[in-house]
Parts: sequence; C-alpha cells; structure tokens
Amino acid sequence: KVKNMGKNSISFFTQEMKEEFLRRINIEKQLKRALKHQEFKLLYQPQFEMKTGKIRGFEALLRWFNPSLGFVSPVVFIPIAEETGIINDIGEWVLREACSQYKQWQEQYHFNGIISVNISPTQLKKQDFYHLVLKILEETGIPPGCLELEITENLFIDALDSTKELLNELIAIGVKISLDDFGTGYSSLSYLKSLPIDTLKIDKSFIQNTSVKGVEQEITSSVIELVRKIGLETIAEGVEDPQQIDFLYHALCDNVQGFLTGRPKPADEVAYIIKKGKVDFEQYMHRDDF
Ligand code: C2E
Ligand code: MG
Ligand code: MG
Ligand code: MG
Repeated sequence: KVKNMGKNSISFFTQEMKEEFLRRINIEKQLKRALKHQEFKLLYQPQFEMKTGKIRGFEALLRWFNPSLGFVSPVVFIPIAEETGIINDIGEWVLREACSQYKQWQEQYHFNGIISVNISPTQLKKQDFYHLVLKILEETGIPPGCLELEITENLFIDALDSTKELLNELIAIGVKISLDDFGTGYSSLSYLKSLPIDTLKIDKSFIQNTSVKGVEQEITSSVIELVRKIGLETIAEGVEDPQQIDFLYHALCDNVQGFLTGRPKPADEVAYIIKKGKVDFEQYMHRDDF
C-alpha cells in the first residue's frame, strides 16, 4: 500500500512539472505570434502630485490576451519574453504605442504630463536602444521631457558602466529615468546617489503597511526623506487606502499611484481624468475616520 502511495505521489509530481513545462513552451510559442496577431494592449494608470492633486502622468502597463491561453499576467510572460529575447520587439511596440497615445492626448486635450514606460534590462543592453528611443520620439513628435523610462535595480548588477553611460545619454536629451520597485532588489540607499536617475518609485511593499502608525511608517518616511535629500522625485506605488494618502502627504512624498486614485485603464477610459486634470485628495483626508 505504502509503495503505491509513493508511486502515485511521484507520478503526480512529475505530471505537475510536465504541465508547467508544457504551459511554458506554449506561452513561448504564442508569445512569438502575439505581436503579429495584435494581442497586446496598453492600460494607463494615473500618477498624481501630492501637493496639488494635479495629474503628473500615466504609467503604461502591458496586457496580453491570447485566444487559447486567455489573459496572461505580465508577471508571467515578461520574464519569458526576456529569456527568449522577444521582449525587444514587444518593448519597441510598447514604447511606440505609448508615445503615439501621448501625442493624441497632447493634441486632443493639450495634455503635457508624463508618460512612463517600463523597460526591461534586456532592451537597454541592446546596442541601438538609444537610437530606437530617438527614432520613436521623432516619429511620434513628443517632447523628450514627457517620456519617462522605468528601469529596475537589477539592471545595475552587471554592465554597470555601459548602462550608466546609456542612461546619461538619454538624460542628456531630456528623457526622464525612474527607478521602479525600489526596496525589492539589492537596494542600498548609499549607492542611489551615483545612479543616473531622476525619479524613484517606492515599492508597494513599503506602502502596504503604512495605514497605521508604527515602525513601518517610520521606515517608509525615513526612506522618503533620504531620497528627497539626494534630490530625487518620489512616487509611492500601490496606494490603496486613504490612511496611506494621509501618511504620504505628511511624509512629503511627491506623487502617488495606486488603485485608490486610479486603476490601470484603457486609453479611452482615462480621457476624463485628463480633462479633469486633478484628483481631489480632500475626499481622502480630514475625515472623521482618521
Ligand atoms: P510595475 O512596473 O511595478 O507596475 C505596477 C504594478 O502594480 C502593475 O501591475 C499595476 O497594475 C499594479 N498596481 C498598481 N496600483 C496598485 C495597487 O494599488 N495595489 C496593487 N496591489 N497593485 C497595484 P501589472 O500591470 O500586473 O504589471 C506587473 C509588472 O509587469 C510591472 O510592475 C512591470 O514590472 C511589468 N510590466 C508591465 N508592463 C510592462 C511593459 O510594458 N514592459 C515591461 N518590460 N514590463 C512591464
Ligand atoms: Mg513600473
Ligand atoms: Mg513598480
Ligand atoms: Mg512591480
């Protein structure tokens, strides 16, 4: 009996592994055709200035719907796209699409905020990334200062000098660089100063536990204070409740982004935010339940 159970559990395990493997292969296969079949779209999530409530800009977030796989999260397919190199073509599409969308907002609503685009380390390490950005800026006719590229810390683990050089070249033409998910990687506050970045996005894991007074609030406000001292603009990611807004306001965080102030939405659904131009933070603050 025992032997049978053992056998069953082993075959169950290998079955699971086999399915996982096949799913991955299938994702890879579908991913290769996804661009051609127009299966990608971008959602836009608003970022707001804490001091004024004015819209700072939008982050473009990639969505993939495949007829056989259904919706696949970027958390799942981006790493596969990176490993296979498909990310270079997908990333180029994302950049062009986000910039053209920006141009439309500029023409229709005189929008002059920022469009933030996530960039994989793989893309930056390609020789012609700088020229690709130049080309897309030219094609779409958007001012370089309106484009922000979001990169992550693990980019700096290897190829440090050449990466810094590239980022400095982009900064020189006016493009903004922001460091995404700060606090999840090999973050060290001391090396921040040496990085060619303008903006720092404080990861949602820092923000999550700031709804109540306590050590988490103290840690997060110290981080914000230090980042401000270095001279970087701050954005809090993953803001989900009014208490966090209240806390971030007093911690002098520059901007907020999160489900509370706006979920990622298709371009046509964020037009009203652009027209309105701001969020009313008052609705979240000075309330009895604080
Ligand atoms: P990210 O760049 O840090 O993007 C923020 C993620 O947090 C998004 O998940 C967004 O939907 C989610 N989010 C926003 N507000 C809240 C909130 O209040 N609470 C919570 N719990 N989550 C919130 P999403 O869209 O699933 O994207 C996941 C990650 O996939 C992104 O993290 C980014 O690293 C990557 N990604 C997305 N689009 C692209 C892209 O076009 N290119 C590349 N290279 N990576 C992308
Ligand atoms: Mg991002
Ligand atoms: Mg992030
Ligand atoms: Mg993230």
